[in-house]
Amino acid sequence: LAKKLHGTEKNVWVDISKMAVAHNAINLGQGFPDFMAPDHVVEKIKEAVADHNPSIHQYARSSGLPRLVQALSKLYTPHLGRAVDPLTEVLVNVGAYGSLYCTIQGLINPGDEVIIIEPFFDCYQPMVTVAGGIPIFVPLRPTKEGTVTSSADWKLDHAELASKFNSKTKLIIFNTPNNPLGKVFTLEEMTEIADLCKKHDVVCVSDEVYEWMTYGAAKHLKMASLPGMWDRTITIGSAGKTFSVTGWKLGWCIGPEALISCAQVVHQNCIYTSPTPIQEAVARGLELEMSRIGSPDSYLTSLAEELLPKRDTLAQQLVDAGLKPVVPEGGYFMMADYSQKEVDLPESDEAKDFRLVQWLIKNKKLAVIPPSAFYCDEHKHLGENFIRFCFIKNDSTLEKASCILKEWA
Ligand code: PMP
Ligand code: GLN
Repeated sequence: LAKKLHGTEKNVWVDISKMAVAHNAINLGQGFPDFMAPDHVVEKIKEAVADHNPSIHQYARSSGLPRLVQALSKLYTPHLGRAVDPLTEVLVNVGAYGSLYCTIQGLINPGDEVIIIEPFFDCYQPMVTVAGGIPIFVPLRPTKEGTVTSSADWKLDHAELASKFNSKTKLIIFNTPNNPLGKVFTLEEMTEIADLCKKHDVVCVSDEVYEWMTYGAAKHLKMASLPGMWDRTITIGSAGKTFSVTGWKLGWCIGPEALISCAQVVHQNCIYTSPTPIQEAVARGLELEMSRIGSPDSYLTSLAEELLPKRDTLAQQLVDAGLKPVVPEGGYFMMADYSQKEVDLPESDEAKDFRLVQWLIKNKKLAVIPPSAFYCDEHKHLGENFIRFCFIKNDSTLEKASCILKEWA
């Protein structure tokens, strides 16, 4: 294995998904729906390939199929408060993963510091270290105790965050709604981060893949729409999350040409272009969605409505099972504190939540995710008393999980 990859061998999704399958567990682990994608989106992929248009089956323009970049520009222009140039300010990629990878590789020089807010989507850390960057971690911390708390109760310490910025800081990786917490950052919280970026000339990579999934009063705000932030923000989105089609693996970066062109240099030499039929289908899907904005059949708003009762049911089931849920304001994951439960776990070097999850999969046939995977080594203890549940699942799956949790109670 190449030296630059040392330390990145372990992957929570590979390990836990493999175990879940091997033990035939009810899977509330990896984030993907176990129900059918929306009919109109499935129709669009059928239409895209049935069109007898030979170009649908050939390479697309490197930075993105013209029809798709047009649709993305139209979709985001009102949310960003400025016209997005489809040809220079959009880069289509293989998932949000590809988008993050090309952005980080394209912007980081060896020794550059990159601030990462914890808990964080796990791939940020290896992407930064492989690019030669130095990750600097700042944790969100719970500010309230109780049986049921909210992701809004998890906050950054402003002085601690500010202390991490210096002349070596190149990027901050920001994620709202956050995975795994479901925190939706407020305007005030985002303004604090934006002010630090501007003061220290730092670029913000804003991972907003769960942008359409917020609940109640929480509203998603785009970092790039804050004053002075367009020029220093790359926003990451995902068709997999937007349309509940994680297997389509299509994502995008939106941002100023000066930053997008850096990600494109990486992209053109390691991916070159994303699958054309998928790009065509997503373009058609977004066009249809834009015609439905404000109507009840808009998937961009109806998905969160569909998820809200699932979130609330799961939270209650967790309370009944003796866990303490952190109810998310966005996304489709829920963290829950299990430290009240008595479980005799085998001793090992692994974090307690990893041992608990292995125990749950083997003995209770329930798969969830150990959140210490979303912390650096030094801060893993902050996640060790929690497990992460995914609730974008059929009610029947959630019901089966509930029976297991009750039996565990
Ligand atoms: N960012 C976050 C916060 C995620 O949860 C995910 C999950 N898949 C990704 C990026 C990657 O998205 P994609 O499947 O589009 O590569
Ligand atoms: N984003 C998804 C999650 O958090 C899955 C990511 C993956 O499987 N690599 O569960």
